[in-house]
Amino acid sequence: MNDETKRDPKPDSTWRQATRLVRGGTRRSEFGETSEGLFITSGYIYPTAEDAERAFKGQSNRFIYSRYSNPTVEMLENRLCALEGATICRATASGMGAVFTSLACMLKAGDRLVASQALFGSCHYVMTEILPKFGIITELVDGKDLNAWKKALSTPTKAVFVETPSNPTLEIIDLKAVADLAHAAGARFVVDNVFATPILQKPMELGVDIVVYSTTKHMDGQGRAMGGAILTNDQEYLEKHLTPFYRHTGPAPSPFNSWVVLKGLETLELRVRQHCLNARQIAGHLEKHKRIKRTLYPALASHPQHALAMRQMKDGSTVITFEFDGGRERAFKFLNALRLIDISNNLGDAKSLTTHPATTTHQRLTPDERAKMGISDGMVRLSVGLEDPADIIDDLDQALETAFR
Ligand SMILES: *Cc1c(COP(=O)(O)O)cnc(C)c1O
Repeated sequence: MNDETKRDPKPDSTWRQATRLVRGGTRRSEFGETSEGLFITSGYIYPTAEDAERAFKGQSNRFIYSRYSNPTVEMLENRLCALEGATICRATASGMGAVFTSLACMLKAGDRLVASQALFGSCHYVMTEILPKFGIITELVDGKDLNAWKKALSTPTKAVFVETPSNPTLEIIDLKAVADLAHAAGARFVVDNVFATPILQKPMELGVDIVVYSTTKHMDGQGRAMGGAILTNDQEYLEKHLTPFYRHTGPAPSPFNSWVVLKGLETLELRVRQHCLNARQIAGHLEKHKRIKRTLYPALASHPQHALAMRQMKDGSTVITFEFDGGRERAFKFLNALRLIDISNNLGDAKSLTTHPATTTHQRLTPDERAKMGISDGMVRLSVGLEDPADIIDDLDQALETAFR
């Protein structure tokens, strides 16, 4: 090994996942730093005017401007590629930036988009309000119902979009089956893999074309930095759609936020594994609790799509949703009685966070739309953190006690 290869180790295709998460994408500067460098720069200088001309003609492979690419952002993108098993990644400033960019870059007026109806609030808004403003025709289907997919995808379609597990009802969509139907309809299949994380679910192995993330969630995992990512192996999508759209509309993340997420990835597998262990224990406890009417967690045998969830994912994910009687009033009483768990709409954080979807993330929907999605006023979503699960359980128990007093 010469000095150059020591400084700039090439990602090794034989590396296992844990190794890729720690080392993938690392590109050292001349200083030989251990930790990845943080390049806070908007631009780059050219030794000569001829070099600048060549760069703009696309004749040299170099950094031009941080709206297109930056060394720290590129390290994040390459580490995400190594994790996902993708050849292409573009990082974005937020998860919603990734969702919107992934679709808007390839759709035009008259194109058809089919999406599952159980969506994160802002994803729902993009599908039903923003994209239709540009003449894109959107149809929402019950994602659990393969016949609904068959019907919707019997018409030529350009894009299919789903979230699985969905927020907040943790519905599971059969990725392999929908991928086959999407491709037969001529569509690219885009999956928001935030709830599953790339540790638990690899959508591309099931035929998905494009995977999007909010890196704000588990990848940062400590509530510090917003970010998102688009991953694919589709070279035509990159060249024809994603590259020009990204370059000219500017969804790029800041180098600092990218650096935070890059370092967060080093512990992603450890954290997600522990989040899941904690969640299993807490879901088991809630399921048996006399005050709880229904506990939704994909790793519980009582989850309506448990078998599909366990076929598609390595574990049940890091979020639990549960319901009790007493509607909004009791739900608020419960949330206000919590002493350890915080009220917050974020998720995937080391800190346990809880939210009342009907009045926060999904408050913009009509009561009818919420009912269709299965979101009741007595429903609470819990993002299980990395505290001792016994402390989380103690807090849930005492708050339930107070809420039912
Ligand atoms: C949070 C989230 C998003 C949006 O990500 P931001 O980083 O908040 O923009 C999209 N999809 C899902 C499933 C999410 O949980």
